[in-house]
Amino acid sequence: MMSRCSIVPSPNEVQLFHSLSGIQRLAETHRFKAWFLDQFGVLHDGKQPYPGAVDTLEKLASKGARMVIISNSSRRASITMEKMKNLGFDPSLFVGAITSGELTHQYLQRRDDAWFATLGRSCIHMTWSDRGAISLEGLGLQVVNNVEEAEFILAHGTEAIGRSSGSTQCMKLEDLEKILELCATKRIPMVVANPDFVTVEARALRVMPGTLASRYEELGGEVKWMGKPGKIIYEEAMKMAGVNAADVIAVGDSFHHDIKGANEAGIESAFISCGIHARELGLNSFGEVADTSHVQALAAKFDARPSYVLPAFIW
Ligand SMILES: [Mg+2]
Repeated sequence: MMSRCSIVPSPNEVQLFHSLSGIQRLAETHRFKAWFLDQFGVLHDGKQPYPGAVDTLEKLASKGARMVIISNSSRRASITMEKMKNLGFDPSLFVGAITSGELTHQYLQRRDDAWFATLGRSCIHMTWSDRGAISLEGLGLQVVNNVEEAEFILAHGTEAIGRSSGSTQCMKLEDLEKILELCATKRIPMVVANPDFVTVEARALRVMPGTLASRYEELGGEVKWMGKPGKIIYEEAMKMAGVNAADVIAVGDSFHHDIKGANEAGIESAFISCGIHARELGLNSFGEVADTSHVQALAAKFDARPSYVLPAFIW
């Protein structure tokens, strides 16, 4: 069922989006050659696939859609694909995956970008512990614990600090913030390998490195955001799928990262309401349809303009 919703947020600007109950009608128009899919909050909740997601992907693939996962995960692309497989998705349905962690790894390794070329090699490493530490192997980096010796901050996670020995030490968020305060006085830059502020994890929300990065900007620090909503991840995905912006739709559950990112990359977008904004939209159960005016108000708050709105990634 496709209906056209028209909401007037201000006298000067009429904003429009389509409300859909699933992606079938859209997929069958073959309007988009490539679908860029967010993972957390769209395909799965970190622990299990959402109802119908595995089946919907298969149906979308059968319509000839080229699918790329674009994710702000701090993990590398190969690990993301492995996770998708373990959750029951068929990895062969995707052209590939581009993650924030993969982009960060490649830019730190190649150093052919002007900003990265001048970046030092000694870093304070903010990482994960329970969720599994991130390997810096092959990057030629030296992890240091003294801010005085650090040339930049590398933020992969929000649970721990890396040690020069290669081990990690668990740390509370407020203690990581204290380290940021010291780094800010030294004016060293930060590379954030996961720009998300929070992510869904089962039914809860978990703090992600983007929260540390925005705190660092508040402290006056310089941040290199390696993922959505930045254009870099969309450009890489278009290269991977061999398409232009006009042939793409991006599907995601974050107004700031997925929808605004798509808007800025000049591609169309589908907003999934049962993801990280579910609570703000007053939704309590999977598949529940959000009130159009609530969606419109929240989108306006984020200055995001979705082309389509769906309760979930379902056929
Ligand atoms: Mg998401």
